[in-house]
Amino acid sequence: MRIGVMGGSFDPIHLGHLVAASEAAHRFSLDRVVFSPTGESYHKATDTRAPAEVRYLMTVVATAADPRFHVTRVDIDRPGPTYTADTLKDLQAEFAEESPGAPAEWFFITGADALADILGWRDPEQILDSAHLVGVTRPGHALADPGLPADRVSLIEVPALAISSTDIRQRVARGAPITYLVPSGVAHLIGKHDLYRSS
Ligand code: NAP
Repeated sequence: MRIGVMGGSFDPIHLGHLVAASEAAHRFSLDRVVFSPTGESYHKATDTRAPAEVRYLMTVVATAADPRFHVTRVDIDRPGPTYTADTLKDLQAEFAEESPGAPAEWFFITGADALADILGWRDPEQILDSAHLVGVTRPGHALADPGLPADRVSLIEVPALAISSTDIRQRVARGAPITYLVPSGVAHLIGKHDLYRSS
């Protein structure tokens, strides 16, 4: 079993995230990709951001149609800041309980910008020991070299990542359309919960 874990705030989830997960699944022959929305934000102003439960709901709606995609609540349900070392530990423990003794290879997928700081994250050695890291980015975007072992990290360029959550929040705030940038169910949830109007 080859399992990808797609970590992100998903505030909101957009088509770039879905294309990136699909591309990573293809490149690394993943059997499944588990999206893990982060818990409540600790390093960002939260007033213009969506609550964790709504980000979780948007992620479920966006991924529902793809049988390879799953969503986990491990980061949403764990109190305190989200640390990737905990995300992987919890998901690996769940898998060991569901499929005792089954071998699994793990891949942690996220934005290449976010990965560039990984040496400052909690327990980077544990993360590198337990998963192959996949940084996704838009073509032509200059990447900082995080100084990680080349055999444990891969970078994938994904043209659809020209779409960004920041841009979508700003578009909503100024009344510009987000049709075709996010799945229609996500656009409906943004309207229903009146998200991002005041950013
Ligand atoms: P962020 O700082 O909000 O995002 C940085 C950049 O990466 C943005 O351009 C973002 O674009 C992009 N990005 C983030 N997740 C992505 C994904 N899954 N696919 C494609 N692009 C993505 O980062 P974040 O969302 O808070 O955190 C990303 C992941 O790193 C999470 O799983 C988080 O738990 C983990 N992390 C762990 C630690 C730690 O363990 N100490 C610290 C920081 C982050 P969009 O805004 O368009 O997504």
